[in-house]
Amino acid sequence: MQLENHVMLDFDISPVGTSRLGEVDFDNLAFGKVFSDHMFVMDYADGAWQRGEISAFGPMTFSPAMMSLHYGQAIFEGMKAFRQQDGSVSLFRPGRNIQRLNFSAHRMSMPEVPEDIVFQAIVELVKLDSKWVPSAPDSALYIRPFMFATESHVGVRPSLNYRLCIFTCPVGAYYTKPVRVKVETKFTRAASGGTGAAKAAGNYAGSLHPTELAKAEGYDQILWTDGATHTKVEECGTMNVGFVMDGKLVVPATSDTVLSGVTRASAVELMRHEGMEVEERVVEVRELHEAIKAGRLTEAFGLGTAATISPICTLGLEDGDWDLPSQDTWSVAPRLKQRLDEVRTGAGEDPFAWNIPV
Ligand SMILES: *Cc1c(COP(=O)(O)O)cnc(C)c1O
Repeated sequence: MQLENHVMLDFDISPVGTSRLGEVDFDNLAFGKVFSDHMFVMDYADGAWQRGEISAFGPMTFSPAMMSLHYGQAIFEGMKAFRQQDGSVSLFRPGRNIQRLNFSAHRMSMPEVPEDIVFQAIVELVKLDSKWVPSAPDSALYIRPFMFATESHVGVRPSLNYRLCIFTCPVGAYYTKPVRVKVETKFTRAASGGTGAAKAAGNYAGSLHPTELAKAEGYDQILWTDGATHTKVEECGTMNVGFVMDGKLVVPATSDTVLSGVTRASAVELMRHEGMEVEERVVEVRELHEAIKAGRLTEAFGLGTAATISPICTLGLEDGDWDLPSQDTWSVAPRLKQRLDEVRTGAGEDPFAWNIPV
């Protein structure tokens, strides 16, 4: 997806009079707390998407009977724009996020968005707020597209009205100390036939209580297992998960209970391209257990846009906590992080042309 120069825009742009940029401390960016000057809004009514607009980021007013608040038709995306070595700005694989937004919309009986208009809107939004794209290592402009039902109506059925909104947040390095994860054997994030492969808001609400319980037991996150048997590993918190076992990168295959992450897909493709053996398959808790006992499980990490790679230090299994080897012995996760950073900042080879200039 590449924009022609001077294309007619399918939406209006009303730039703010005064930027809030001067109020922002770029050396101390808390994740998701600072919002750039502009947002994009496009409404769906009378069976069609209406003309959208980029204007000042700010509050919205809704009826208490707004259907998304009651029946949960709400979906979101998360992607990033990166400052390039030469000072320009690029998006990382934006097409995948826009397609996934439509996958989520379809699952939740919401209207699909016109992909070209959404791509244009993201490009124009990032261009307009390009001064908000930080340049420190590991920083980025986080982009949050989301859609929710806006009709005022009591009674369960798909809403007739929706709003698509996109705002952006400058974010600093998302430092995650290595996490202790509890292998979950009671609660379920996603059931077969359910909504787990969609980025549907309710999925995250349902994961909060089990995560609070895991935290009370001294863990940071949950390693989610399949809902039917709790014997197969699926995801880590709100991220995909990868393991290095016997020198191979092993990632749970995507399914209707394992969300198809862009970071996960990129890790698989990049590491294969680098000549590493990569397996996408069912990963059993039992095999992780045996491998960690035998010292064959050498690295484990979450994979997602916010943190890129979130190292796991400990697995909480039924017979207690098992530690992974210390991170200074790891080689795959650091290499993967380095290669992803190089691609996203234009600092190294981009073999699949994932980096899209705005
Ligand atoms: C967003 C998300 C991921 C990671 O996807 P990315 O595209 O890599 O950010 C993984 N699992 C779940 C449940 C998610 O919501």
